[in-house]
Amino acid sequence: MQHDGEVTTTRASLELLYDISRELTEALDLSTVLRRVITLSMSNVGAVNGSIIVFDSGGDPVEGIISVGDRVIENAAKQLSETLDDGLAGWVIRNQRGALIPDTSQDDRWLRRPDDHEKQTGPKSAVCVPLIAHQQLVGVMTLVHPSPNFFLPGHLELIQAIADQASIAVQNAQLFADSQRRARVMTALAKSASVITASLDLDEVLQSILSQIREALNVETVFLALFDTQGEYLNFTATSAGNDAEYAGLQTKVGIGFAGQVAKSGQGIVIPVTEMDESFSLEFERNIESDIRAIICAPLKSEGEIIGILEAINPIVGKFDPDALEVLTGIGSLAGTAINHARLYEQVQNTEQRYHDLFQDSIDPILITDNQGNILEANRQAELFTGLDNITLLAKSISQLVSSKEPIPGLETDGVTIGEIHSIEAEFASSDGTQTPIRLYVRSSYVENYQLLIRDISERRRFDRLREDLISMIYHDLRSPLANIVSSLDVFNTMLPDDGDPAYRSLLNIALRSTERIQRLTNSLLDMSRLESGQPVINLYSTSPVLLAADSVEAVSPVAAAKNQIINLKIPSDVPQVKVDGDMIRRVLINLLENAVKYSPPDGEITLGAALESQNAVLWVQDSGPGIPAGEKDYIFDKFTRLNPAGSQKGFGLGLAYCRLAIEGHGGRIWVESEPGKGSRFSFTLPINDH
Ligand code: ADP
Repeated sequence: MQHDGEVTTTRASLELLYDISRELTEALDLSTVLRRVITLSMSNVGAVNGSIIVFDSGGDPVEGIISVGDRVIENAAKQLSETLDDGLAGWVIRNQRGALIPDTSQDDRWLRRPDDHEKQTGPKSAVCVPLIAHQQLVGVMTLVHPSPNFFLPGHLELIQAIADQASIAVQNAQLFADSQRRARVMTALAKSASVITASLDLDEVLQSILSQIREALNVETVFLALFDTQGEYLNFTATSAGNDAEYAGLQTKVGIGFAGQVAKSGQGIVIPVTEMDESFSLEFERNIESDIRAIICAPLKSEGEIIGILEAINPIVGKFDPDALEVLTGIGSLAGTAINHARLYEQVQNTEQRYHDLFQDSIDPILITDNQGNILEANRQAELFTGLDNITLLAKSISQLVSSKEPIPGLETDGVTIGEIHSIEAEFASSDGTQTPIRLYVRSSYVENYQLLIRDISERRRFDRLREDLISMIYHDLRSPLANIVSSLDVFNTMLPDDGDPAYRSLLNIALRSTERIQRLTNSLLDMSRLESGQPVINLYSTSPVLLAADSVEAVSPVAAAKNQIINLKIPSDVPQVKVDGDMIRRVLINLLENAVKYSPPDGEITLGAALESQNAVLWVQDSGPGIPAGEKDYIFDKFTRLNPAGSQKGFGLGLAYCRLAIEGHGGRIWVESEPGKGSRFSFTLPINDH
């Protein structure tokens, strides 16, 4: 019989557990599950009071329910926390097993409260079991009966069996709540993401960030602050409170105040409705919003770096949702990236604008073509120069605009290196048929485009013609009459009787020297223009440096004598013959000697020397003049360079330019060595005659 009785009891318990399990698994909302668990448990063991504490995955109490007779109190986690620290629930959790207390007044594990006193409710009996699901503690349930020794070991077993079912239901409810919360957060973030990233305009992005936060968190005010360039201050740049002007220019130091602290640590903070945490100074925020009931702040992040903060103040209804910080932090990461993109886009646009302006405002006409020469872009100057508007230009190719003898580099030839500039001379044909001479500079770029810069060279061509005219004028109108004068004077010289008046001969000599000087000048001018146009020196013959030197000294000696200067000759006898146009080199030497005489003081000393140096003859003229400053040594050989144009010495700045052209035309080199105050030494090399 006893055996049958056991079977009946077991079956009854199994049915009970099955019913409980079914009833519990039907509910998914934690509060409903807890109500059912406590009611079912109490009714099945005849308990009068009971409580359940629920833990989150981190082991912190998150929910609590108390049932006293017919009354149920929810959200009682805080009230129940004492029993976790010092009471029976704490013991059960620490030992991970159920406990039966037949008489609470006799057991230390029971936390005695004032109402446990003999004269109040007095000793009771209690059972307490852990709620464990999948090896994880999800809660603890305590049941109480007002009479000691009411609960028996069988009760404990039954309650533990119910708890095992209940814990699965509690865990499911928690997981469900968690996934719902996650879904809410994700929906809010996804919605914000699509709105925030819809624009690349920084102001629009900032405004949509604020409006999304306002909507997602339903708050009164939202602020957005960004670091200054040094990362030292947070500048409040946008607000959704509607009156931006009031907040413009507001700033707080990083690390100071609520926002400053979040900016420094990168950790979001929320201070919910009731408790205002005194460890954060809200002084800065209170200046903006006098009545702060609740505040939440999260970092704005881009690529892992904090670039500012988001701050939301005062929920419009009730308090912040538990996931408000998560939502704000999520928006913070999205928004940081969106802000950075908008900033980058702004930078790119500014740079593009700058380059576009440079292109448009360039003083030269510029065309961009593809590698077939089709015009892709044309600046304002190109329109002005060609007389064609942009649309017409973009329909043309460069070969329709210019014609040239040489092919256009890159476009009509191969082998143009990217970045290198090539140029050719060409003619631009206007629609009215006029031809303008141009130099076309071509540069190929990385994107298979060609940049063509047009420079009008009509002016230079005019100068070239002028120079040619001048040269032919010198040649025909000066040179031949001069030659006539020189030969007439020569004849005159032979006709003068040896015993005649010496004054005549002296006058004749002056006339001869002056005409020779003019002849030298005209010949040098002609040589310069020939050499500049690239013609070679052709009239080469072998001659001795000694002879060249002697002739040159003779030409300048009257002027040197007038200043009482001495000209020394230092030419070693072993200096070999040189192969040169003797007339040209003589004029080089005369030029150098004339300068030496001009710049040396009266009574000064001048030396003309020569030497043989590694297969070249070197000739030099040393003076005792003021010398040439180091920085000017290269320039003085340029045309029209005069170091002291306002000074007493006259000249055109052409002498040394001629010397360089003539020497380089012979394949030689000319240079000056000088220490200011110690005179100058002009030297040049000449090829020796090795045949
Ligand atoms: P210029 O007709 O002016 O003499 P040059 O071409 O011969 O033209 O010389 C250019 C400039 O170089 C001169 O103006 C002068 O300033 C400087 N210069 C030339 N030779 C000497 C020199 N021997 N001593 C000092 N300065 C010189």
